[in-house]
Amino acid sequence: MITSIGTKEIEQILLDISSNIHSQISYLTDIDSQIGDGDHGYNIDRGFAQVRKDLSKFEGYDIGSLLALAGSSLISSMGGASGPLFGTAFRKAGNAARGKSLVNLSDIASMFEAAENGVIDIGGSKVGDKTMLDSLHPAALAAKSAADNGETDLVGAFQSIVLAAESGLEKTKSLVATKGRAQYVGERGQGFYDAGAATVCIILRSVLETLRHLDDE
Ligand code: ADP
Ligand code: MG
Repeated sequence: MITSIGTKEIEQILLDISSNIHSQISYLTDIDSQIGDGDHGYNIDRGFAQVRKDLSKFEGYDIGSLLALAGSSLISSMGGASGPLFGTAFRKAGNAARGKSLVNLSDIASMFEAAENGVIDIGGSKVGDKTMLDSLHPAALAAKSAADNGETDLVGAFQSIVLAAESGLEKTKSLVATKGRAQYVGERGQGFYDAGAATVCIILRSVLETLRHLDDE
């Protein structure tokens, strides 16, 4: 059972996210084409390709610096509204883990909370606006409640985090967007998922997969 992860594992998590995003470009393009402008898959893929490239420069960094720099790589390389939003989420998660070379579930819950607050601060969105926050918020809550319940198993915790994010994504289908480009299609957007919320799910499923892998080793 894994109860904490170090810098090497975080590096692996980032590399795996980059691969998983790359393989989902067309899925994300389809979603963003329905109520946005269709660029989300390429935006986020460009961002994580840059993270992959920059990882070699992060040799010797602690977890906080690694995630904060990954956030900066996303911000500097991505176009669209989502660059600063996802970039800030990673930067804030990094700030919450500053100086740490090992994180447990309680650290991870604080990192989720910081990421969520960062997205709210710069995007001004709230739950129900049909944005990435609709899957990030329930994920952060699931992390906090697992940590508060004294759970320590990271695989088990991430299973509930992923389920919470996926049910948040499912709910975006019936919502009318009030933030981002999707607000311009108004009620015509009902019946379609939010692209950023779908990306949050891909990222969290990827983390779960990597943790399972590490658990098997
Ligand atoms: P753009 O909207 O500029 O084309 P992307 O397509 O890359 O950028 O990203 C769109 C996603 O960004 C949306 O699906 C939504 O999840 C997220 N988003 C947009 N505006 C906001 C906001 N103000 N707060 C939170 N998330 C937002
Ligand atoms: Mg777009």
